[in-house]
Amino acid sequence: MPTARNLRHRCGTQGKEEEINRQLGKGGQLASYEITAVHTESSSTGSYHEHIAKVRCSDGSTWSRATVVKDIRTGRDSYYTYGGGRYADVIVRDCPMCSYSDYITTTPDSTTKNNLLELPRF
Ligand SMILES: [Zn+2]
Repeated sequence: MPTARNLRHRCGTQGKEEEINRQLGKGGQLASYEITAVHTESSSTGSYHEHIAKVRCSDGSTWSRATVVKDIRTGRDSYYTYGGGRYADVIVRDCPMCSYSDYITTTPDSTTKNNLLELPRF
């Protein structure tokens, strides 16, 4: 699934990324990242629950939730998890427990093993 991970340079300029996009010919969909661990923070309001604060991907890179949300919203990159024999896409939605709108979670399927909150913590 992940193809061009090594070509990605998060710290590069926008122009550099666009150049890489052209080289890859993927129309802006540059890479797909497998999230393998999460760092959570407790919600600031309402009943206690967790929000994802950071994610770690299979290549060891770590990204803030804001970066993941931006990537997904702009369609630049996609993220997924694997567990229980199934892949799940990571999506942005409103938190089901509070009004927070930059909440990331996985598409529901027949297993919970690939849920973000089921992943190892770091
Ligand atoms: Zn919440």
